[in-house]
Amino acid sequence: PPLYKQRYQFVKDLVEKYKPKKVADLGCADCRLLWMLKFCSCIEVLAGLDISASVMEEKMHTLSPLPFDYLQPSERSLTVTLHHGSVAHKDPCMLGFDLVTCIELIEHLEESELKKFPEVVFGFMAPSMVVISTPNSEFNPLLPGVVLNRHPDHKFEWNQAQFQSWALEAARCYDYSVEFTGVGHPPKGMENVGFCTQIGVFVRKYPRSGGSVQYEKPTEAVYKTVFKAVY
Ligand code: SAM
Repeated sequence: PPLYKQRYQFVKDLVEKYKPKKVADLGCADCRLLWMLKFCSCIEVLAGLDISASVMEEKMHTLSPLPFDYLQPSERSLTVTLHHGSVAHKDPCMLGFDLVTCIELIEHLEESELKKFPEVVFGFMAPSMVVISTPNSEFNPLLPGVVLNRHPDHKFEWNQAQFQSWALEAARCYDYSVEFTGVGHPPKGMENVGFCTQIGVFVRKYPRSGGSVQYEKPTEAVYKTVFKAVY
């Protein structure tokens, strides 16, 4: 399967293993991952965030309930919400999530946004688990036609050491552990190149203290809600 499908499947497998109830996808683009996750029966709250409202709006209708959903109401409740905003800004609507996914997002961030990202995601949102994927530049020579970057909008592409030192530093600052994996295997005999897409899976070390404290962080709403569906 194409690489993007392998990335989505990686997230879906993780959801099926850890059964998070509330999942947020940052940089959700055309909502394809959210659409896939809507079929995971453990999920009760799904949220998407993107800085481009137009790319989200393209396919957001696919997140609406179908006639079948009304005829056969299921036991679980599911709320799907899409927000327009930046991962460089904190908004209380992103609090209380179990899993936050950032698939092929960080390489699109400006330097100033990337600097704020760890504090927003690990410090403020502080979910139990965070998944971050990004291209592995060491794999680029194996890709036909890739000279410098895989995509002109990429602000950077990191090798394994660069991604891992950034991730380890974020994990250390905000009390997470991190494990590295990926999708897209290198050819036999070239294992040291690493995966085509590198992935960090972060797990918060300590449980959130005192139940509702997280919801009381005094932060003003800055994201704009562009879609909401209740199943
Ligand atoms: N996650 C999707 C996937 O894997 O198919 C889309 C990845 S796309 C390559 C990167 C997305 O990040 C784009 O939709 C872009 O608009 C969004 N993005 C870029 N900067 C952002 C920011 N500061 N805050 C939120 N989203 C951002």
